[in-house]
Amino acid sequence: MQFAACPECGAKINVPDDVAIGDVLSCPDCGLELEVKNVNSDCVEVDELQIEGEDWGE
Ligand SMILES: [Zn+2]
Repeated sequence: MQFAACPECGAKINVPDDVAIGDVLSCPDCGLELEVKNVNSDCVEVDELQIEGEDWGE
């Protein structure tokens, strides 16, 4: 098991061993959607998921 830290609230998030860059996780504390940016041997870097192509209603 690996871990990531939520950039919003700092919560520790369990990350599956087969995690890959681009996977989306959700923070158990604040519910923020997190995209995996980098996978290191001892930690996983995540960043807030940026939703592209969203319709802003012009
Ligand atoms: Zn959080």
